[in-house]
This record gives sequence, C-alpha cells and structure tokens, in this order.
Amino acid sequence: DCVMELDKMDENDWKYHGEGNKSLVVSHSQHSRVLRLLKYPAENAEHAHQTTEQAFRHIQNIVDFNKNIMKQLLGEKYVHHGEAVKLPLDFVRQLSLKVQQERPESRCDKVMDTFSGCAVCLPNLTQISTCHNNEHRPPLCIEIKPKCGFLPFSRHVSKEVKHKVCRFCMHQHFKLANGKWKTMSRYCPLDLFSGNKQRMYIAIKHLLEEPQNNLRIFKKGELIYGCKDDMDLNELVQHLKPYFPTNGLINGHQSSKAVLNELIQVITSALLSSWDSGRIGEPRKGQPTEGRAHCEASILHRDMLRNGNHYPPKDCVLSKIRQAQMLDSLDIEGLYPLYKRVEQYLEEFPKERNRLQIDGPYNENFLEKVKNCPSEDDGSIEYAVGKVHQYRVAMTAKDCSVMITLAPSGEEELPEPNMEIQPSKPRFTYSVSILDLDPKPYENIPHQYKLDLKIVNYYLRSIQSKQ
Ligand code: ATP
Ligand code: MG
Ligand code: ZN
Ligand code: MG
Repeated sequence: DCVMELDKMDENDWKYHGEGNKSLVVSHSQHSRVLRLLKYPAENAEHAHQTTEQAFRHIQNIVDFNKNIMKQLLGEKYVHHGEAVKLPLDFVRQLSLKVQQERPESRCDKVMDTFSGCAVCLPNLTQISTCHNNEHRPPLCIEIKPKCGFLPFSRHVSKEVKHKVCRFCMHQHFKLANGKWKTMSRYCPLDLFSGNKQRMYIAIKHLLEEPQNNLRIFKKGELIYGCKDDMDLNELVQHLKPYFPTNGLINGHQSSKAVLNELIQVITSALLSSWDSGRIGEPRKGQPTEGRAHCEASILHRDMLRNGNHYPPKDCVLSKIRQAQMLDSLDIEGLYPLYKRVEQYLEEFPKERNRLQIDGPYNENFLEKVKNCPSEDDGSIEYAVGKVHQYRVAMTAKDCSVMITLAPSGEEELPEPNMEIQPSKPRFTYSVSILDLDPKPYENIPHQYKLDLKIVNYYLRSIQSKQ
C-alpha cells in the first residue's frame, strides 16, 4: 500500500521529519507518508559492506516483526507495520544531503544509510486521515516513549532496590552522571501506567517539564516541542491556546496552567480509551498484579497511593504495551543464564540456529514460540529459546512510542468520528498508534546484563552518598 512511484522519487517532495538512535525519518510534503531509513555509526557507514540483498532482508525482517509479532501482541488497531521498499540510490544520496542541516548535532554521530536504498514506507502518524482541513487548528500529535511500566517481580532479582525503584528512575541517575542529559527528568513510568488519573497527570506534567527523548509534540505534522535545543513551555502554550479556547479565562487571558491542564486531560483520556467499547475507559480497581505498583523514586502525595492500586482498562494502549513488557518475567538476571545455555547449545549445534529462529524469520512459528513457552524450566533448549524470544519482545515493548493524534472536530457538522473524547468542549477526533517496534538483537543480551549491573550499582552508590 505504498502509493509512491518508486522510479519517480524526487528529494524535493520530502523533508526531514525526525530521528532516533537507529533510524532517520523523512515525510512527504503532500501525501501522508514517511520513509524510515536506517542509520549507522559514521565509522562503519558501509555497514561492513553488506549487500543490497542483505540490507533488504534486514528491513523485511523489521517489517515482519512488526506485522507478525508485535501487531499480534499489541493489537491490530494500534500497529501500522509498513512496507519494505527499495529506493533509487540517487534519490537517497540527494535526500541525505538535503536533510543533513536539519539534523540535531547530538544525533550526528551516525549517518543515514545511503548505500542500500532500502527503507520502510509508513503512514505519517502525526497526521490524521479522517480530519477535515482546519487551518486554524491543524492536527496535533503527542508522541510518548513511556519506557518500562512495571517493577521486576522475578525471584532471580538479586538486589532488593530493583523491587522498589523502577528502571527508568535509576537510569536517570546514570545518564546524568554520564552527561547524556543535563537535567533530571521527574517522569516515572509507573505513574503513567498506573491508570490512576492523578498519578498519570503528574507523570505527563513531568514529561512536559523535561521531555528528554520521552515526549514530542507535532502540529500539522511538524515538531513544535521536544527533542529540540530551543524548547520553551510558554511557546508550547501559545500553540495550544486555539485548541482549548474557552477554558481557564483569567482577566481575559488563558492561564498557561489551565491550557496545559486541558492538554494533559486529553492525553490521559486517549491513553485510557478502549477502542472496542469506543468510549473512555474507567480505571478498574483491585485487580491482582505482580509486585508493587509504585516506584519509591517518584514524588507522590501519600493520599494518591492510599486509595489503592488502580489498573487501566485491559485493552487500552497502556495495558497492551505493559502486557508485552511483562513477557520479561525472569528479569535480565534470570534470563542471562538461559542466554548462555542457548549460546552453548549453538556452539555445539550451529545448524540449529535456523530451526530455533534465533535471527528470525519472524513468522507465526516465532509467535508460537513466544506465546507457548513452558512456564517452568525443564532444562530444555526450547525453554531457554522461548524465554530469550520473550525477553526480546519485551525489550521492544519497553522501547516503543505511543502516538496520539488529535484533530479538533468542527463545531456544527461533526464528521463521523472514530471516537470522541470529552463530552463538553473541546471535542477531538483522535487516533492512537504504537511505533518504533524493531526487533532487539539477540547479540545484545550480554550488554543488557552488564548495563543492568552498572545502573543498579551506580544508583545504590549515589543514594548512599546522599544519606
Ligand atoms: P529510538 O532511538 O527511540 O529507538 P528509532 O531510531 O528506532 O528511535 P523511530 O522512533 O522509529 O526511530 O523514529 C524516529 C522518530 O520519527 C519517531 O520518534 C517519530 O517522531 C518519527 N516517526 C517514526 N515513524 C513515524 C511515522 N510512521 N509517522 C510519523 N512519525 C514517525
Ligand atoms: Mg523511537
Ligand atoms: Zn520510577
Ligand atoms: Mg527504535
């Protein structure tokens, strides 16, 4: 369903849209489409001279993983798996030159792949297709990278602190010490995933105050907040005012707080909405869960925790993501020995690598292995591989982004809305999607094990020195 004519590609139709650690995204100026190209470290830009065929298979693997694994686990309605495309090299080279000056300096340690011409073509999720044009209030899009929303419950966890303080909060200390960020984020994923509207409010407020790479806001498909050097909350408020017109008038001016408050309410509603029922989901109470549901590092009022654990509706986007994250049931500490079991087995029987689908293919068979992994370790290679696959799926779910696209509904003639939030003004038609669902490499597991040790040890030392 990639509508472009691949032989008539013109770099002037495309512009820089954004990038992450692994890929660079360009958007089409007329069609609601993006191209997602891979990036490589500048020093091995030719990516170890991989052939075009290898590059295409790699891209196809990503699409297959999205389509056959993540879409099945997270839900049909949230995932747009895209399509692998082969672009003219000339076009890709021109494009690379064109976007270079738009790229943030901090991302320029990597270069766009201009050798293979392979990319993924996706719908532009910052735009909403059902909306009628509204020049005054073009579509607004909020992207959140929520990170891991639960505390490990595995008995393999060796440090008590991992049952109390979430990974994101511990990682913040480590990132600050290593100069990754200058200011600490006060965001805690456990609050966002809690389903408790007060806690979610605080989590989103903290994201707005210090977005790092966990929040971006787009207007009319263009980035207006987050991942930029010149970020100003007041400027964001100016952008938002037309969307929330009648609220919080103080001396004829809308207070910034009231505007941001409205935005947060809308985001919360979208995150809690159940698509099946087509209405805003109400948080459920007293559902059983694994482990405790709040993080000691998060600064919350006691009374917010006192009224017990809430859980978001089970088919809302947050629950779907969290369920996939919880496939990491052993924690890296319990998983690492199983990884080593697999490694040892592969050393002895290298040809088994294909049958065990260590590097894919990501098909129904792989999904079967993820879903039907035995719950008890019977010492088998199948168990170890099943757990490794589950862990990798969980890693992907811990690193994905949620995109909430809002289009104001017209006052009189309401278009047949997908869904509507907020019974009184403001009214929005909205859609929710999940993106950035690449498979995480099997080879990365030892690195994850070491990183976990470093983060936890650093955190323990840094809180000790403060006491
Ligand atoms: P990360 O470092 O988070 O793993 P990544 O390198 O894997 O990121 P993506 O997150 O997939 O790359 O894409 C980078 C950015 O491009 C996203 O954060 C998002 O803002 C934008 N983007 C990606 N896909 C789409 C899409 N289909 N529609 C609109 N914007 C998109
Ligand atoms: Mg990303
Ligand atoms: Zn936390
Ligand atoms: Mg990614």
